Amino acid sequence: MGVVVQKYGGSSVATPDHLKRVARRVVETRQAGHAVVVVVSAMGDTTNQLLALAQSVSPNPQRRELDMLITTGERMSMALLSMAIQDLGYPAVSFTGSQSGIITTHNHSNARILRVTPVRIRAALDAGQIVIVAGFQGVSEQLEITSLGRGGSDTTAVALAAALEADYAEICSDVDGVYSADPRGVPDARRIDTLGYDEMQQLADAGAKVLNAEAVEWARRNGIEVRCVQTDGPREVGTRIKAGGGLPHARVVAVTAHPGLLMLGPDVPGAPAPADLEATLAAYGAADAEVWRVPGSWGARVPKQNLHGLAAFREALTRLGVRVREDLTLVTAVGRGLAGPPGLLGPAREALAEAGVATHGQLVDSGRLAFLVDAAHGPTATRALHAALIGGLDAP
Ligand code: ADP
Ligand code: ASP
Ligand code: MG
Repeated sequence: MGVVVQKYGGSSVATPDHLKRVARRVVETRQAGHAVVVVVSAMGDTTNQLLALAQSVSPNPQRRELDMLITTGERMSMALLSMAIQDLGYPAVSFTGSQSGIITTHNHSNARILRVTPVRIRAALDAGQIVIVAGFQGVSEQLEITSLGRGGSDTTAVALAAALEADYAEICSDVDGVYSADPRGVPDARRIDTLGYDEMQQLADAGAKVLNAEAVEWARRNGIEVRCVQTDGPREVGTRIKAGGGLPHARVVAVTAHPGLLMLGPDVPGAPAPADLEATLAAYGAADAEVWRVPGSWGARVPKQNLHGLAAFREALTRLGVRVREDLTLVTAVGRGLAGPPGLLGPAREALAEAGVATHGQLVDSGRLAFLVDAAHGPTATRALHAALIGGLDAP
């Protein structure tokens, strides 16, 4: 029996009724002849509620203790889903990330998966059980429980699919695939049928929430096909991300915005980056910061969502002579062949100017046209780029 890994996001397991629906969908997959491993997120808004609970006790909690707390959300879901599947008459067993052999770095609240040794999962599958795994968590080599950063259940699912040599990983969510922009902000965005790993990586790195960036890395490295589908929709409708799924010719495939970025740079223009910049970033868990240095200048982009203790982080940077800006958004058009002809940079810049959006910097390479804009202009800039670069084209 081929293995299929399915991941259900928070909105798909938000209530007991949702969990029972997911249980039926899992059982249908099993009845279709697959061995099934299910990865679950925390129910609904649970992770945010747990973070707020921590804040109500301590303004600056240790990241180790935060991980002990926020990983419990996924443990609730895994146990409840296992019970619901057992009630449908199928054998099921739930495992935490640690029991599943998910070994991570020691970087609390933003750990990366180093390797997966799914000994217990394999044994359970061999015994005919459906396996439910708590997403978003693992264990470090120091035997501490870690969390993987927001949206990390996607990574759990794809890393497990790689370790188990699964046929594919199915990411089941509230949206029926990857769109040419977030359909919540761009109503005429269109679903993309297939995407290559490179484009999906660019899109996830640029902030598209639909699939976690580290999950795409695992898929690409191991050639795992990822199917993004809607939990309550037909299984065959969705986006497939796979080798050879890329664009046949130069064009933009999707536009996305990355709000919630801290932009770092020198307080005094021309000042060099502080010697302990990277060490400071690491000390606050900002392992996913993108730092660049060019002669006479430097800068860094830090996603805010996995930084806990933001005030202390800001203070530490100010002491080092680093300027921290939080009023900018990076808006990115992702595609192929974008640095050269047919010259999409000109139309992109014109579209932004026509929409009244000023840019504070740009980043152009073959896979992306990215513009720094005022945060308040993020949604307008996204819609303007989508209309100019994708709106009139046939579906990708
Ligand atoms: P889950 O809780 O299931 O992991 P997420 O909220 O993390 O779901 O991701 C799904 C959401 O991603 C959608 O509801 C949608 O608003 C957002 N999104 C952002 N960019 C895109 C895109 N390009 N295509 C589809 N959805 C997107
Ligand atoms: N529950 C976690 C979050 O809200 C992980 C996930 O949903 O992927 O970010
Ligand atoms: Mg998600």
